[in-house]
Amino acid sequence: MKVPEFIDRSSLLKGVAASPGIAIGKAYLVDRSKVRVLYQYLINESFIEEEVSRFEQAVARTEAQIEAIKSDIPAELGDYAYILDTHLRMLRDRMLYQDTIDRIRAEKINAEWALKKSVDHAQDLFSRIRDEYIRSRIMDVENVMDRVMRNLVGHVPENLAEIKERVIIVAHDLSAADTTQMRLDRVMGFITDMGGKTSHTTIIAQALEIPAVVGLKDCTQRIRTGDRIIVDGTSGDVLINPDDKTLEFYHGRQRSYESYQAEIVRCSHLPAVTLDDHRLEVKANIEMFGEVAAVVDHGGDGIGLYRTEFLYVSRLTLPTEEELFEDYRDVAQIMAPRPVTIRTLDLGGDKFASAVHWAEEMNPALGLRAIRFCLQEQGIFETQLRAILRASAFGNVKMMFPMISGLEELFQAKEIVERVRRKLDREGLDYDPDMDVGIMIEVPSAAIMADVLAQEVDFFSIGTNDLIQYALAIDRVNERVAHMYEPLHPAVLRMLIAVVRAGHAAGIRVGMCGEMAGDPICTPILVGMGLDELSMPSTNVPHIKRLIRMLTRADGEAYLEQILKCRTVVEVNDFVKATATTRFAGLQDDARIGSQA
Ligand code: PEP
Ligand code: MG
Repeated sequence: MKVPEFIDRSSLLKGVAASPGIAIGKAYLVDRSKVRVLYQYLINESFIEEEVSRFEQAVARTEAQIEAIKSDIPAELGDYAYILDTHLRMLRDRMLYQDTIDRIRAEKINAEWALKKSVDHAQDLFSRIRDEYIRSRIMDVENVMDRVMRNLVGHVPENLAEIKERVIIVAHDLSAADTTQMRLDRVMGFITDMGGKTSHTTIIAQALEIPAVVGLKDCTQRIRTGDRIIVDGTSGDVLINPDDKTLEFYHGRQRSYESYQAEIVRCSHLPAVTLDDHRLEVKANIEMFGEVAAVVDHGGDGIGLYRTEFLYVSRLTLPTEEELFEDYRDVAQIMAPRPVTIRTLDLGGDKFASAVHWAEEMNPALGLRAIRFCLQEQGIFETQLRAILRASAFGNVKMMFPMISGLEELFQAKEIVERVRRKLDREGLDYDPDMDVGIMIEVPSAAIMADVLAQEVDFFSIGTNDLIQYALAIDRVNERVAHMYEPLHPAVLRMLIAVVRAGHAAGIRVGMCGEMAGDPICTPILVGMGLDELSMPSTNVPHIKRLIRMLTRADGEAYLEQILKCRTVVEVNDFVKATATTRFAGLQDDARIGSQA
């Protein structure tokens, strides 16, 4: 949304829209500025062990503090306790704990200085990691080590549990420990200097549905406790001490956002049936168990994509079959009878597991990733397949393979599944013998061979995030070509149509689970293509379901036909921009509340 002209630009901060909604209230500045290491000194040989023990005690005190926070965690954040466990493990991680002790001994320097050097070293290592998620985990390292530093220098931590009134939290960065300490009924919104789409503040704010803007760079310098602020978590704007006219405008925006949200969530449990009686399943994408409740709350017809990499990339060792099984079983049980599609591992590309050795690749997106990696590392693959199959006895589980590029890979993957089934039979372990097995269509060769592949699987799910990057040769994580990443490119649209047709000709269902599936502007087009299922972040589900209920498939088809006359992506975009909101009533709400997608 464009900020109206009358708003004073000098009071406006722009950041990353992390969690939608509008909060208006008083700021509460959390002093989490880093403790500066003022003293750097060499120590005498005879005091070295004393210094080591001072460091060990600070780590032990930090452990006790985190344990105390963990035992006090509010029920609604119970699922996020694992973040604190990760912090506890980091405290004793070799790279930080042992490295600091080694430095004290070898360089004969005080503990604060040694710790700072270890953290600097870790920062340097993390900055070279390609995976954005793991790279951003350096924030956790910094948070935890900042606590140790405070304990070393005897800093008394601020008690966030003592916040008395309803406020908007303003912080440099918020650790999971900070967030879990807060009385959440008193928090109207969060804003932070640091953070991006994958930071924990974002994940938690979204889970709690509290408006948040992150990555504001200097909000803690510009805002004081008691300032009145407006947080627009939908657009990423923050306004400081607004005048009456601005306040009035945002109160109006808040009212329309909340009434719209209440209305769509109220209806989100209704099926997504078009006015001419075509039903689409609208499902949710998740990355971890903690998101399942939100899927149910937002009326998801199931989980269309469970990305299973999180349990592998968030830790230093590989997960065991039992851990995976329990996780998948719990998701299946909560969702039952609604279906849960578990995607087998999609490691490589931009997601790496610490427990696996990854060779440096020139083009990781074209390298050993996803099913190719699993076919090579069959031990890791079989463990996951066993867990998925065993979980299938507890709900409506489907399995799908990512990045299939042709029939050979599919046959190999299916053969391994068969082998695992036979082993489970011999061990007398239960599984659903009729579990659907499908594939993602996200490599152009698979799209072209869709008619052949469709004969061998129970369903297709189109992964547009990758399909678009491979079809247009646009690296999806490269900011320099991001503007050329075009879901509505005529070549992409033709490819999607061909895949849907090939799937339907073979009598199988065709879904879509890339970001395009949850983008409202694409909804009429996707309905026109005849997709059977759309899967997206759970917060988009109510909105997309409502849009579908306001359309006819026939109108979607006619619209698509007109779009297909365009020969360039510019023509398509211009046409859609000029016609979509006037032609499809449901899209007018996007203009009113600011785009959700
Ligand atoms: C996709 O490629 O569209 C997809 C859904 O998978 P991911 O984003 O996990 O690669
Ligand atoms: Mg993909």
